[in-house]
Amino acid sequence: MRTLLKNCFLVTLDPPSAGKGDIRIDGGSVAERGASLQAGAGEETVDLGGKVVIPGMVCAHTHLYSSLVRGMNPPKRKPKTFLQLLRRLWWKLDRALDEESVYYSALAGALESLKCGTTLLVDHHSSPNAIAGSLDIIREAVAEVGLRGVLCYEVTDRGGKKERDAALEENRRFLAATEGDGRFRGLVGAHASFTLGKASLEACGELASAYRTGVHMHVAEDACDVRDARRRSGGGLLRRLENAGIVREGSVFAHCVHLRPAEFRALATGGTWLVHNPRSNMNNGVGHAPVQLFPGRSALGSDGFPADMFEEARSGFFRAQEDPAAAGGRIPEMVAGGWRLAASMFGTPFGTFSGGAVADFTVLDYRPPTPVNEANAAGHFLFGFGSSSVESVMIGGKWVLWNRMHPVIDEEALMRRAQDVAGRLWKELD
Ligand SMILES: [Zn+2]
Repeated sequence: MRTLLKNCFLVTLDPPSAGKGDIRIDGGSVAERGASLQAGAGEETVDLGGKVVIPGMVCAHTHLYSSLVRGMNPPKRKPKTFLQLLRRLWWKLDRALDEESVYYSALAGALESLKCGTTLLVDHHSSPNAIAGSLDIIREAVAEVGLRGVLCYEVTDRGGKKERDAALEENRRFLAATEGDGRFRGLVGAHASFTLGKASLEACGELASAYRTGVHMHVAEDACDVRDARRRSGGGLLRRLENAGIVREGSVFAHCVHLRPAEFRALATGGTWLVHNPRSNMNNGVGHAPVQLFPGRSALGSDGFPADMFEEARSGFFRAQEDPAAAGGRIPEMVAGGWRLAASMFGTPFGTFSGGAVADFTVLDYRPPTPVNEANAAGHFLFGFGSSSVESVMIGGKWVLWNRMHPVIDEEALMRRAQDVAGRLWKELD
């Protein structure tokens, strides 16, 4: 189907641009951009009345399975370290998940992301008591909302060999099922170096190599990861991952808070992506990632917080501004990095309104007191745009949010159901 969007105010970051224009969409991609395009026969025309249109935001690292944790009682014994936080909260939560809670976590999380103007989620999943088929459940939920997804299952040694092998197989199965898919892709999921022995790390690297894809894992989120790598291998963390074939084209390394400058320099070449998760890092008190050292292939992630990428960018900018060595100016570049990461994974342009780009757009009801232009587009992204201005969202040429409403999903009923499932999950955890 062809759609003509008239009277848009188009804003991009990569490269920065802002100006009026019309967009013609055909088959889910941009067919034409012009100053004043004429509607063709049978073409649906939508007049956006001069509203700001931006490319849909990308969340480059998240955990939809954490959607039902908000407001839950904290662990009875307060965690003092990052490892205790994992043991007393997250590793209990993922064990309590079943197929129903995986589904409702994903559905509720994806809908919230959409309402924040996010159109692609790079998710990292774990549910050790419901491994086989879990990525299909997430795919079904994310597709129901209408988003795109890059999914993986977390391989780890913390549950023993049988669980590890089931996790590897779930990744393999999903990778095979999504090869060449326009909406969903797979990566090989791995937890973190400190819960993976040499053989398991190598198995992740081999699987990624077999499917010509990357490994999505947590890297140097807390200093314990670096210490553990030294203990196990006598060398640095990055070297340990390199030896296992994990530092590769398409890999996604979340956090990188505690990598050394030489390791950042090593990652500046090659095809690995780094993802900065400022809200999560602040919330867990693991330290502030040296964003000034992050390479060009960097993006932003919410790490399980709702994928409000405006809020993520703003939090990251403010935190970076506090640190004299860090540069908040890197943050808009990382927002744009999300689109470049998406483009590299799907093999099609994201983040632009040029011909051939995916028609993933967010319409903002944004009435600023200052002009928006090429020179200050990043300033409006950081200090003006927000999820509260998100009015409509198009993904693949289809409206999946119109005037703040999903065309199919009854949000109230869904959230009521999610609350019931959350109540059951919390009881189990208590
Ligand atoms: Zn994470």
